[in-house]
Amino acid sequence: MKSADIRQAFLKFFESKGHKIETSSSLVPADDPTLLFTNAGMNQFKDCFLGMEKRDYTRATTSQKCVRAGGKHNDLENVGYTARHHTFFEMLGNFSFGDYFKQDAINFAWEFLTSKAYMGLPTEKLYVTVYASDDEAYDIWTKEVGVPEDHMIRIGDNKGAPYASDNFWAMGDTGPCGPCTEIFYDHGPEIEGGLPGTPEEDGDRYIEIWNVVFMQFNRTADGEMQPLPAPSVDTGMGLERISAVMQGVHGNYDIDLFQNLLKAVADAVGCANDGNPSLKVIADHIRSCSFLIADGVIPSNEGRGYVLRRIIRRACRHGNKLGATGLFFHQLVSALADEMGDAFPELRAQQETIVRLLKSEEEQFAKTLEQGLKILEQDLADLEGKVIPGDVVFKLYDTYGFPMDLTADIARERDLEVDEAGFEVAMEAQRERARSSSSFGLDYNALIKVDSETVFTGYDGTEGTGSVVALFRD
Ligand code: ATP
Ligand code: MG
Ligand code: MG
Ligand code: MG
Repeated sequence: MKSADIRQAFLKFFESKGHKIETSSSLVPADDPTLLFTNAGMNQFKDCFLGMEKRDYTRATTSQKCVRAGGKHNDLENVGYTARHHTFFEMLGNFSFGDYFKQDAINFAWEFLTSKAYMGLPTEKLYVTVYASDDEAYDIWTKEVGVPEDHMIRIGDNKGAPYASDNFWAMGDTGPCGPCTEIFYDHGPEIEGGLPGTPEEDGDRYIEIWNVVFMQFNRTADGEMQPLPAPSVDTGMGLERISAVMQGVHGNYDIDLFQNLLKAVADAVGCANDGNPSLKVIADHIRSCSFLIADGVIPSNEGRGYVLRRIIRRACRHGNKLGATGLFFHQLVSALADEMGDAFPELRAQQETIVRLLKSEEEQFAKTLEQGLKILEQDLADLEGKVIPGDVVFKLYDTYGFPMDLTADIARERDLEVDEAGFEVAMEAQRERARSSSSFGLDYNALIKVDSETVFTGYDGTEGTGSVVALFRD
């Protein structure tokens, strides 16, 4: 089953259950100062959960463009290292605004995944987690749906817990949140990794495919948990992850949607299409960068634009690793538009702008990339121990435009670490110098402010202004 067909099947399934099919919202959240980029399907419905917005429906379904490259949900460093993470992905979701709650949400998800008319997955491959104290959800899964107890796992909110798993979902530090139940697919014993809630959970054997959140609270800035006006439901399933399952492949990068893209990367770089992780990184990054630009983000030195710049530079560096000798990244836009332009017409509408901006970024960075890498090599040759000192990281950043995470990426490949604290000290000294000369310092890795940003209404349209302040930490 092709990913485009899965997207369609999902939306149609929920339409048949009374849900309104809504279009994906922009990657730049409208009027939400707490969010860097749209990171989940529920973002555009935040006010419906909070009871501040009433629509003429109480059930909706979407396939939402998401970017997780900063903020609370940041997967940038995972890309290329896990089978399941992208910076850009599509989240399939169904939503109830004070309409149905746990029972229907669980039954819908199970029906879609296991019914022969839809995904028809074998039930023995599925595992389910619930929030530790959520007996109600546990009972629905075991008594009503019939999931055996040895396929059920209780997981808490990870406060002080030794493992990464967390069954309390929150959009960000504030906003709607609640306990959740997650469905995992077992990709088989030949793949390393353990069940969620075990020390081996970081592996990619059991992959989370669907998260069903029982929205019950609004977390305020001072940490207070206010009950929502009505219990609601928010779910998210990664289209690429369910596609991998349906296509009988393990990794997200092995699905149909990525085949032509990976080939295009190898052609543009001039290397073999041999599964090298750098090919995947680039195929991932062309999606996030193109979609971000299509939604109005422009590479810059601050806020959202800086995150975009970092992703572009990371892609360029991986191209360089693969032996690229010229500019290649912007050449991938047409392959992407071929692959995804039907589902997302904005890619074709903005194609020229995307190519132009990417090319100019590539040109700029190409000038310093090789030189910076040489400097880094020299410093690494002299390095004693396993930590790249903060002042080296800073020099690369300041003189050659290497964002810290790019240096950290190189470090990780060689089993080294970067001295983040030392980098911060050098950064702070730089800020101090900038302040004393009353110019603006570039504030990396601290709170990044997106202030009085222009609200994007299309490259040809009229632009209005609003005030957006996004605070995030990498
Ligand atoms: P993981 O634990 O694997 O990082 P998550 O718990 O952070 O996933 P959620 O916030 O619950 O993910 O998002 C809902 C769903 O979206 C996930 O179940 C998964 O299918 C998909 N998803 C989340 N992050 C990514 C990503 N970076 N790339 C692709 N799909 C993703
Ligand atoms: Mg995650
Ligand atoms: Mg998870
Ligand atoms: Mg989850």
